[in-house]
Amino acid sequence: MRVGIGHDTHRLVEGRPLFLGGLKIDHPRGLDGHSDADVVCHAVADAVLGAAGLGDIGEHYPDTDPRWRGLDSTRLLAEVVEQVRRGGWAVGNCDVIIHAQEPKLGPHKAAIRANLARLLGLSETSVNVKAKTGELVGPIGRSEAIACHAVVLIQPARGQDP
Ligand code: MG
Repeated sequence: MRVGIGHDTHRLVEGRPLFLGGLKIDHPRGLDGHSDADVVCHAVADAVLGAAGLGDIGEHYPDTDPRWRGLDSTRLLAEVVEQVRRGGWAVGNCDVIIHAQEPKLGPHKAAIRANLARLLGLSETSVNVKAKTGELVGPIGRSEAIACHAVVLIQPARGQDP
């Protein structure tokens, strides 16, 4: 078995839609970035790549490349999972912490979990989504940004030798 860790932060700004874990959340502000800036998909994808020793999403999807402008990050995550699968690995489980002062994520955690389970090819019991506020301090607490931490375990796929 191998584990990987991922982290991402994006600024919360006016005039952008908010995507977290592939879920579009109705909110007056969204995350700024070259792609759709989905911090959850980015952190999970980096954890998957890290577990397989395949670098990070910045190497695979550079933000200087116009091909990735406005990229749907669920596509990015699905492609990363497929790449790791081709290397002989299966994703085992995933645990995520989303750091956001706003919006309140309690009502959205189940839908984000279901999305991540689908994208990772896992049952929902193998995916966990936690949400923390910034306790009103720092860039998270002042609602200037949303961040995400992710840990992913991978194991050799049945009958394969990575
Ligand atoms: Mg990012």
